[in-house]
Amino acid sequence: MATIVQKYGGTSVGNPERIKNVARRVLETQRAGNRVVVVVSAMSGVTDNLIRLAREVSEEPLEREMDVLLATGEQTTIALTAMAIEAMGGKAASCTGGQAGIVTDGVHTKARISSISPDEVNRLLDDGHVVVVAGFQGVTSGGRITTLGRGGSDLTAIALAAAIKADVCQIYTDVDGVYTADPRLVPDARKIPVISYEEMLEMASSGSKVMQSRSVEFANKYGVPFEVRNSMNQNPGTLVTRETMNMESVVIRGVSLEKDQAKITIAALPDRPGNAARVFSAIGSAHLNIDMIVQNTGRDGEARISFTLHKNDLKKAREVLEEAVRGIGERVEILATDGIAKVSAVGIGMRSHSGVAATMFKALGDAGINIDMISTSEIKIAVIVDEKSQENAIRVVHQAFRLHEAPLV
Ligand code: ADP
Ligand code: ASP
Ligand code: MG
Repeated sequence: MATIVQKYGGTSVGNPERIKNVARRVLETQRAGNRVVVVVSAMSGVTDNLIRLAREVSEEPLEREMDVLLATGEQTTIALTAMAIEAMGGKAASCTGGQAGIVTDGVHTKARISSISPDEVNRLLDDGHVVVVAGFQGVTSGGRITTLGRGGSDLTAIALAAAIKADVCQIYTDVDGVYTADPRLVPDARKIPVISYEEMLEMASSGSKVMQSRSVEFANKYGVPFEVRNSMNQNPGTLVTRETMNMESVVIRGVSLEKDQAKITIAALPDRPGNAARVFSAIGSAHLNIDMIVQNTGRDGEARISFTLHKNDLKKAREVLEEAVRGIGERVEILATDGIAKVSAVGIGMRSHSGVAATMFKALGDAGINIDMISTSEIKIAVIVDEKSQENAIRVVHQAFRLHEAPLV
C-alpha cells in the first residue's frame, strides 16, 4: 500500500464545487488502495483578503497576530474538505498544522520548520482516514501559531511527505505543470516534463511562483521528488527530481519574471573594510530579503553598492540603512528606485555552454529594452529592466532561446 501526499492550492479549492472535486479525486486515490494525506491552502483570495483586513485596523499589524489571522484561511478549507469527503461516503479527519505535529521557530509570518512529529497523522492513516492537513502553518514549541511564508502550503506538503516517508508527493494547481515560462505571460510556453531541483529552485526564487522556493529547497535537501499537476484534469505533469545525465543537453530550461522590484544604491561609501558588512548586517537583522548585489569602487576611494529587493520592503530598508550608515562618511547617499523588474534565464546546461549571456543581451537590445543591472550564477543569468517593458522582455528572451519549440528532455 503506497502513501501519497496531495497538495491542492487556492484555486483548486476556490469554491464549494472545487472542494467537492478535490474530495472526489482524493477518494479515488484512496479507493485505488493508497493511504492519502491531503494538504490544502486557503480558498483563493482569502489570504489576501485577511491581509487587507488587518491593514484596515492597523498600519503595522503585529506579525504574531497576523499568523493567528492568516492560519484561519487554511483552517476553513480543512474543515470543508473533510466534510465533503465524509458527505461522499469517505472517512476523513482534519488537522491544523500543530495537530499534524509541525513545529517551527518563532519567526512569525516566515517561520522555518524545526521538526515534524507525524504520530497523529500516521495513527489516523492507520485507522483508514484521509488526513486533511492545513497548509502554510505550524506552531512553536511554546504553542504559538506561525505561518511559513506566502505559498507555504507547498512546503507543508513536501515536509510532511518527507516526515511520513510518502511514496509520492503531488502538488496540484491550476496549470498542467511547470512551464518554460508563466503560461499566462508567454502564451507559447511549453510544459517541462522533468526538471532538476536546482533549476526549479532558481526559477521559483526568481519569480516562477508555481512553487514556493523554500519548499523546493527542502525537497532538494531531503531528496523528496515531487510532481506538479493540474487539479482539473488527469494530464501528466512535471516531475521535479535530482539532476540526471541528459539534463545538461538543454541549455535554458525556463525563464522567469519577478515583478515589483526596487533598487537601493548607497553612493559615496568610504572604501574601507567593514562598511559592506555594516550595511548588510543591518539589512539581515531586519529580515529583509535582497538580491543582485553589485559594488563598484571608483578611483576616489569611494564605493557604490546597489542591490535589489521587493518594492514593499523599500521603506523599511531605507530606514534601517539610514541608521546603519550614520557617521560613516559625510557624502554617503542612499538612493531608492522602484518600477523595475527582474527577468532570469535558468538552465543547468549553461555550465557547459558558452554564449548564453550574449544571446540574452542581444535579444533584449534588438527589442530596444535597456538593461539596468546584470547578475549571473552558474545556472542563471538575471537582468533588471524597466517594468514598462517587463512582459515584452520575458517573451523576447523566451523566443531567443527558442523555448517555444525546443525539444524538452
Ligand atoms: P496554487 O494556488 O495552486 O499554489 P499558484 O498561483 O501559487 O497556485 O501557482 C500557480 C501559478 O503559477 C499559475 O497559475 C501560473 O500563472 C504561475 N506560474 C508562474 N510561473 C510559472 C511557470 N514557469 N510554470 C507554470 N506556472 C507558472
Ligand atoms: N494561503 C497561503 C498563501 O496564499 C499559503 C498557500 O496558498 O500556499 O500564500
Ligand atoms: Mg502556490
